[in-house]
Amino acid sequence: MGAKHRDPEYLKNARIVRSRVAVKRRAGADVTCWRCGHLIDPEQRFDVGHIDANGGPGLDNLAPEHRYKTARCIGNRADGGRLGAARQREAKTRHAPAPITSPGSLKW
Ligand SMILES: [Zn+2]
Repeated sequence: MGAKHRDPEYLKNARIVRSRVAVKRRAGADVTCWRCGHLIDPEQRFDVGHIDANGGPGLDNLAPEHRYKTARCIGNRADGGRLGAARQREAKTRHAPAPITSPGSLKW
């Protein structure tokens, strides 16, 4: 769990996403995982994930996702570990964090 999961805006918006999931389930609607597009079974734990890992904690970038690996989905926790490992490898070779480019910037 990174610092972005302690961000007050993330925590506030994650609560909103979780309450929306609860409302959908009470209404009998399916809740799907943004990552794989498949149903999140009500018995399964889910996370409120960042659609864009480098994006902000706004509601537009948060969505429910499978917490753990399933037959069809890597799951948030496994993917987060993979991302963390890749960032650590990068930090070791470059001794500096990757620059964060804004999505709207030109490539040249
Ligand atoms: Zn999934």
